[in-house]
Amino acid sequence: MRAFLLWDGLFIFGLEPKISNGTQVLSLVIRPILKVVCIIMKQKTQEQCAYCGKIGKMTIEHVIPQCLFTKPLPLDIVKVPACEQCNNAKSADDSYLRDYLVTDASASEHKTARKIFTTKVLSSVRKNKSDLWRSFAPSAHLSLVHCRGGISLLYAGNLDGERIERALYRIVRGLYYRIFQQHIPENCNYSLTRWSPQEFNEFLPLLHKFGFNGPYGCGDAFKCIMQFADKSPFTTAWWLFFYDSICLHVLTEHKESE
Ligand SMILES: [Zn+2]
Repeated sequence: MRAFLLWDGLFIFGLEPKISNGTQVLSLVIRPILKVVCIIMKQKTQEQCAYCGKIGKMTIEHVIPQCLFTKPLPLDIVKVPACEQCNNAKSADDSYLRDYLVTDASASEHKTARKIFTTKVLSSVRKNKSDLWRSFAPSAHLSLVHCRGGISLLYAGNLDGERIERALYRIVRGLYYRIFQQHIPENCNYSLTRWSPQEFNEFLPLLHKFGFNGPYGCGDAFKCIMQFADKSPFTTAWWLFFYDSICLHVLTEHKESE
């Protein structure tokens, strides 16, 4: 017996193909199975892109970038269909987001963030391959910063906020698709703010009062909760937690008519 990994965790068990006169021949047992698999794959490839809504052949996209985790990847990692264009557009911003998160002083005590920083990030900095460090270094200066342990003297500098926003808004769009099975339309406004743990804790009683969806999570690197407006389901609020220490709040506002 042999297992063939065909599509996103779908395993088909069949007999080994027979070998006859040096030619590989599919057995009668495998042919009908392959026919069914072809039908399934054809249906799978005619999906909707979770990000832009295009219908067609899709790839499988990890909503929470894989680079935010250490190996082995968590089993509950979220995946959605994505067109090739959206999939390719994502990867560069993912690395930027990773470097932003694991370099942050707040995440320095988190085991996974620490490991990624001391291996992946420092290695790409040494090779001058980290876009974040290239933009950060010229403006880096020592500054008093409020962080978890109090006030510390740390390096501060300029970052490309647009890339971080793009990566986070994409996460929100992917999660929305995974939860509601539809994509957030183009005519939405997005906004991002960072919340301190204290701000979130102060807001928590209100969240409990009005209710929220979640928590949703992937491994130890990511958790989130969300709310949506009853009469405008694309108007949403998200609290994204990375490494149990960084809380980023994303709002999407649906413009009904444009
Ligand atoms: Zn797309």
